[in-house]
Amino acid sequence: MNKKKLKVPTVGFVSLGCPKATVDAELILTRLRAEGYAISPSYAEADLVVVNTCGFIDAAVEESLEAIGEALSENGRVIVTGCLGAKGDVVISNYPKVLAVTGPHALPEVMAAVHQHLPPLHDPFVDLVPPQGIKLTPEHYAYLKISEGCNHRCSFCIIPSLRGDLVSRPLGEVMQEAENLVDAGVKELLIVSQDTSAYGVDVRYRTGFWGGRPMKTRLFELASALGDLGVWVRLHYVYPYPSVDDLLPLMAEGRVLPYLDVPFQHASPRLLKLMKRPGDIERTLDRIAAWRRVVPDLTIRSTFITGFPGETEREFDELLQFLDAAELDRVGAFAYSPVDGAAANELPGALPEQTREERRMRLMQHQEDISTRRLEAKIGRTITVLIDDVDEEGAVARSTADAPEIDGLVYITDGEELEVGEFATVTVTDCDVHDLYAVLA
Ligand code: SF4
Repeated sequence: MNKKKLKVPTVGFVSLGCPKATVDAELILTRLRAEGYAISPSYAEADLVVVNTCGFIDAAVEESLEAIGEALSENGRVIVTGCLGAKGDVVISNYPKVLAVTGPHALPEVMAAVHQHLPPLHDPFVDLVPPQGIKLTPEHYAYLKISEGCNHRCSFCIIPSLRGDLVSRPLGEVMQEAENLVDAGVKELLIVSQDTSAYGVDVRYRTGFWGGRPMKTRLFELASALGDLGVWVRLHYVYPYPSVDDLLPLMAEGRVLPYLDVPFQHASPRLLKLMKRPGDIERTLDRIAAWRRVVPDLTIRSTFITGFPGETEREFDELLQFLDAAELDRVGAFAYSPVDGAAANELPGALPEQTREERRMRLMQHQEDISTRRLEAKIGRTITVLIDDVDEEGAVARSTADAPEIDGLVYITDGEELEVGEFATVTVTDCDVHDLYAVLA
């Protein structure tokens, strides 16, 4: 077998500062070696240089700035990490050409910057995993997990006890993964987590870095940066914090899909309180109206629980009335199920399974008319869709209103020449309860 020899990506490393900075340097060097990078003592041989700085006293700042200047003039491609990086924009204002700046103890951010500017060698003869990782989804869409765990304590849920409190992934790492996916042909990124709107709360929205620019670890900034990648960005599991309102302008500008997956769970203030969820349902209706004023085409998907312990007929009715008023596009409902270990199991008034299920079916039937009306309003309109499947009978696609697996489909009756993973413009001709029918525009 004739195997072509590829140049091993090589990193130069300059480390200044105290023993804590030395430990940071060791961690970075270990990771670089583990990923197959070579480390070079000479500027000339390195493809880029990492400078680990100190910012403790003025003399250390001077020394660090000099080291950065030397690396820039000798090599030209420099990533700065360490304590000086945490001191506002000192580095960028002195050396605007550095590739990226991070603070101390920032292994994931440094690695994300190295990957961005000097990708590790992908050797298909040795690597079992392509740069974008192994995906179980079709090539044209992918899930992107931005955090793990949850700081809420909804009484019906045991996720926090299983997965712990919220831990947000570093912004640079998330963006690098997103870019790898887009480079590999992904056209739609589905942003998931237990609590997407809380992204960055656990790290106090600390400054991360992407493309050499400092950026807050926060959903708004992340969504904006993802919006720059030129693919569909769909937000899932958006807990209804006030900060969600800030995302709507991004949708109006077309950077993020006009789609919000917000689990409201119920509409009765008493039950929401027992669930430990935000309970001001009047305000929720006002917010939905305000969101639609900013983004008239907004698709709202939500989930609800029926038969929560103590739910009365009147409270269930409140939920149906809420559905009438909110006119949500997509609704999923779950009959309350007492998960082992959930606090809600201790609440009085547990309902028989039959009642929980019967209310779930009533809710779904009630919503059916509302969802159908919202789909009917699309007949005659021209929309963009992403093609999921093609055969001799036409193409199956999704619009901006349809997440894979959980929402509807768009059947393009004359779409047999289309290709999976391409965008197409179609005119909607008909609908049923869940799906649209369309022809090429
Ligand atoms: S339901 Fe969602 S927001 Fe509530 S505790 Fe569970 S994971 Fe967190």
